[in-house]
Amino acid sequence: DLYAPFRRNSQGLDFADRKALQTLAAEMNRSKTHIPWQGGPLCCGQLRTDGGQGVYAPSDRGREIGRMTWTREEDLETALAAADRSWVAWDERPPAQRAAILDQVADLLEQHRAALMALCVEEAGKTLRDAQAEVREAVDFCRYYAAQVRTQFVQPLTLPGVTGERNTLTLGGRGLFLCISPWNAPLAIFVGQVAAALAAGNGVIAKPAEQTSLVAIRATQLMHQAGVPVDVLHCLPGRGEDIGPRLVADPRIVGVAFTGATETARLIQRGLAARDHGPLIPLIAETGGVNVMVVDATALHEQVVMDILHSAFFSAGQRCSALRVLCVQDTVAEPLLDMLKGAMDTLVVGDPHWLSTDVGPVINDRALAALQAHDEEMRRKDRVLHRAPLSGGCERGSFMVPSLYRLERLDELPGEVFGPMLHLLPWRTGELDRLIRQINASGYGLTLGIHSRIDAVVHRLTRQVRVGNTYVNRDMVGAMVGSQPFGGEGLSGTGFKAGGPHYLLRFATERVLTVNT
Ligand code: NAP
Repeated sequence: DLYAPFRRNSQGLDFADRKALQTLAAEMNRSKTHIPWQGGPLCCGQLRTDGGQGVYAPSDRGREIGRMTWTREEDLETALAAADRSWVAWDERPPAQRAAILDQVADLLEQHRAALMALCVEEAGKTLRDAQAEVREAVDFCRYYAAQVRTQFVQPLTLPGVTGERNTLTLGGRGLFLCISPWNAPLAIFVGQVAAALAAGNGVIAKPAEQTSLVAIRATQLMHQAGVPVDVLHCLPGRGEDIGPRLVADPRIVGVAFTGATETARLIQRGLAARDHGPLIPLIAETGGVNVMVVDATALHEQVVMDILHSAFFSAGQRCSALRVLCVQDTVAEPLLDMLKGAMDTLVVGDPHWLSTDVGPVINDRALAALQAHDEEMRRKDRVLHRAPLSGGCERGSFMVPSLYRLERLDELPGEVFGPMLHLLPWRTGELDRLIRQINASGYGLTLGIHSRIDAVVHRLTRQVRVGNTYVNRDMVGAMVGSQPFGGEGLSGTGFKAGGPHYLLRFATERVLTVNT
């Protein structure tokens, strides 16, 4: 079945189980001594590490956790030439074999869960819960795309034709894909893009985010261990501004899957348009959002407040789906605001190694400075409504205090504010249509949250607000592969949705065979 192929979701650890936690902690610690956290270009299965630069933990900028050697031109050329030579053999393998290898990748990711979680905590500053979610989502992507290969790629589709004529449609790889991923989902999105491109029969050059290349390299090694040929998949860490345009311009690249900021997607799109030879190629781009939650007077306050905390502040607000603007009906804005302030005071902001931590650091000091500049602007306008307390130990890392601000208009926001910062914008009873127009006018279209018990209100919002993913009476983050295929529209992305039934088609080419029998 295309829409619900058989597979199982990755099981998480029960964080209330003390014994399981102790084992996890011991394995995470051991992984630090077992894995040399030395990264570099991984070309044809060879990892080049020659000294490199220090990699520092976002939670403690003084602590070097590993070293990274950046990609040079000769690494790029080696990887491109090898992948260009070898992808056809990968594409010609029976699709079921590719699916079996992806299932094996999923199993290996689960077996190495502790080490991968340790990398996510150290390198990306993920809390333990977020680190576990990274591993589970990466595993789910692999199993889901493996299942999709079995339903979509294994058997050619037989099409109708006139008597004596046989028509069939098959799906196969396009060639060499460039997969460019962000740091905020360093394992899940990295693995998801690569797994989809491989599943469809392509070779892959993967360019992870600078800040989180160690975890990407480890995941690539596991993919090789699972059976992905080393010539077919290469991981090239490097500065996006340097190697990105070089790769985008290379005529051997026939498709780009990108997840990151909207402005970067535009740069890539321009780079592709500027090519004057080579094939015409698609860009799959998943980008940012200015995500709104609309709360009306019928919402249950206790539930709304929990969902706001999860959506706006957990993961330090560094999720593309995170809530940025809370639009509350004016008649209930005040009591809800009081309750929200109280709940913000209970947030534990601090060291991501602690199980009790709700909000860890932001990715680096540059991100922190951008958030502080926004905070300064809000302070200058006298818009600060509340701040959560910081725990001790935050002074050595890139921590941003979860903050709540008041907005007067939605278009006051400069764009996506990528951190634990929420903006309150009350809407006047009877002016829901005006609010809907404002939301659509932003041009973004990623996620929308609705808290209402009135069907007509829910219906109006879901029909009229143009976004990719809408969540009603729950939080608005943590889309599950296969259940909530994820992705936006407009400034938020091109689609099709990751973890959905049509995603692999974007990576594939269709061939129709007509035989006069
Ligand atoms: P980013 O700055 O756009 O970077 C994303 C990737 O693009 C990185 O690997 C980056 O490399 C690379 N890059 C930078 N400049 C490039 C260029 N000129 N050519 C080619 N590649 C280039 O985004 P980010 O800060 O890593 O991630 C946060 C953003 O991602 C947010 O806007 C968030 O909303 C969005 N996001 C969207 C989704 C979704 O599914 N819609 C999911 C997650 C995140 P460097 O690291 O070396 O700069």
